[in-house]
Amino acid sequence: MSDYINVAEIFGQNVFNDTVMQERLPKKIYKELKRTIEEGAELDLATADVIAHEMKEWAIEQGATHYTHWFQPLTGVTAEKHDSFISAPMPNGKVLMSFSGKELIKGEPDASSFPSGGLRATFEARGYTAWDCTSPAFVRHDAAGAILCIPTAFCSYQGEALDQKTPLLRSMEAINKQSLRLLRLFGNTTSRRVTPSVGPEQEYFLVDRAKYYQRKDLIFTGRTLFGAMPPKGQEMDDHYFGTLRQRIAGFMKEVNEELWKLGVSAKTQHNEVAPAQHELAPIYAKVNVAVDHNQIIMQTLKRVASKHGLHCLLHEKPFAGVNGSGKHNNWSLTTDDGINLLEPGNTPHDNIQFLLVLMNILKAVDEYADLLRESAADPGNDYRLGADEAPPAIISVFLGEQLEDVMSQLISTGTATHSMHGGKLATGVKTLPTFAKDATDRNRTSPMAFTGNKFEFRMVGSRDSVAAPNVVMNTIVADAFRQTCDRLEKAENFEMEVHDLIKEYATEHARIVFSGNGYSEEWKKEAERRGLPNLPSMVDAIPALGTEKAVKLFESFGVFTRAELESRMEIKYETYAKTINIEARTMIDMASKEIIPAVIRYAHEVADSLNAVKEAGCDYSVQEELLQAVSGKLREAQDAYRSLKKLSEEVSSLAEGEEQARYCHDTVVPAMNALRAPVDELEMMVDKQVWPMPSYAELLFEV
Ligand code: ADP
Ligand code: MG
Repeated sequence: MSDYINVAEIFGQNVFNDTVMQERLPKKIYKELKRTIEEGAELDLATADVIAHEMKEWAIEQGATHYTHWFQPLTGVTAEKHDSFISAPMPNGKVLMSFSGKELIKGEPDASSFPSGGLRATFEARGYTAWDCTSPAFVRHDAAGAILCIPTAFCSYQGEALDQKTPLLRSMEAINKQSLRLLRLFGNTTSRRVTPSVGPEQEYFLVDRAKYYQRKDLIFTGRTLFGAMPPKGQEMDDHYFGTLRQRIAGFMKEVNEELWKLGVSAKTQHNEVAPAQHELAPIYAKVNVAVDHNQIIMQTLKRVASKHGLHCLLHEKPFAGVNGSGKHNNWSLTTDDGINLLEPGNTPHDNIQFLLVLMNILKAVDEYADLLRESAADPGNDYRLGADEAPPAIISVFLGEQLEDVMSQLISTGTATHSMHGGKLATGVKTLPTFAKDATDRNRTSPMAFTGNKFEFRMVGSRDSVAAPNVVMNTIVADAFRQTCDRLEKAENFEMEVHDLIKEYATEHARIVFSGNGYSEEWKKEAERRGLPNLPSMVDAIPALGTEKAVKLFESFGVFTRAELESRMEIKYETYAKTINIEARTMIDMASKEIIPAVIRYAHEVADSLNAVKEAGCDYSVQEELLQAVSGKLREAQDAYRSLKKLSEEVSSLAEGEEQARYCHDTVVPAMNALRAPVDELEMMVDKQVWPMPSYAELLFEV
């Protein structure tokens, strides 16, 4: 059978992983590298030289011709610059293939064009990439051939972070140190490292590639800026978990194969709620590897889609009125010897260490809700959060019945004495197996849900790197642990102090726990009464990065300096303004060059018919009615188009950054909506044959 796949055999075959290193590296070198990977020890150049040589030999066997430092600047996508392995030609006219330790550990892309938010002026354009040996190198095969990709961090000449990875690695240090402190206090002397485990579930849409190319909005902005709802949307819920269509199944098969070869443990795939929407989830991994793998997943989805005549949309809201896409960031804390600090066990009420960890997380999420919200801020997410499909822009925590019950026991008496259990599942059918239910049902509307032994942060946008939310999670939990350990280390009676802390945190931070319907209007009011921040848009969320509270937090752990935070705010404001500007210009272009001319052609046709029918002495009232209606909407569209054009031209006269972003949000976006409304109505009125682009129905149902 030609398409038989032996998963175990192909898994990780393109990765310079532990097995390969152990096989190929001299014992001493392998040991040193492991020490660096596991304990953060420094790597000397001589060792790096040996590793580089072996890595190159291995990559060439895989067919690689080039290598690249693969990094994640603040553009939202990964960046790479390819160098071939060839060295200067020898006297005999031949070349050798070489790759040195220096080339492995350090790169210097001319990176002056990457966003730095003012951290670098163009005259001080040096930026360095530094090998992150904790995330394995891999060989990627695509139209460019085979390329050795080396995951790296990206910093300025002064060492300031210009990427997603540097702060992530710093935050991992912070959480490791504070978690170990806590574990030692509870008598754990054996665990040597605590690492966040992360499993990001990725949602995406697939549309037909030929149809995609007929829509400028999809090409330039990744989402539809016009489009009337089709007669059928997602109301029947018949797509969710539905049988995969063959074309999609073929696509998924190839995606899986590619990912497995790259060592990405693609595990779960299914159709999502919206038509043409799907999800892929890997098995969780150490957070920095998970972040890299998620980038590989997004790139692979895009690349494989094009081979199948499809296009993969990663935008948070490609279609108005249809569910958007997000990324669920599942987060837990795991020791090197396999203990999950978020594992409650069967009787959480008497698992004191777990309860303390849980209350610390509640404290962290409550105190820094604004930072978590900010970490999911993205122009596309503004259309998704709070739109009856994704969590609202208000952060709250869902604990589930069992833990909420334990928590209320803690608040009322200071001690929990029992845990509720799920019981057996009663189906009423004898032939079905009976099994124990989970102690708790789920709540899809919660932005931060405890799901058994992990927290699931559901706000993250589908396009975004999961680095930012994890930097925040790691740092804020480290902060809570630090305060807790400071008190516990000084306590005269450890047990009493733990007891007091649990009760204190549970009482103080109960307001962040919410198990009701997060989509409801009622919750918005309730959240306001509780004093929880509601930051509906990206522009409202960005300032969270610049508060004194945030600066103090991040500086105290060396995760971000004030300057780095300011630069990130600047970049985010710019990203927002640029995104809205591109959307506005695309709408203007489509309206003036495609939509309005098409409607005029149609109106002309109706007018011709009206005249002909009138001449023939027949009833022309239908043509008249239609012409009136179309002309009226055409007038509205033309006025809205002119207004949007004028307003969007103003943007460049404003100061870059916050001022432009605010203006775009407050003025340009409403003008865009005002243009969309009459155009969508026109789409429902005019002849389908003249409409200049594929409709929602064609995009969503004809894949
Ligand atoms: P669901 O939320 O649909 O029940 P799963 O249990 O399959 O999903 O998990 C969803 C994601 O969470 C997967 O990527 C999975 O690997 C990841 N995950 C499972 N357990 C943990 C954990 N302890 N820590 C972090 N991620 C986890
Ligand atoms: Mg999930």
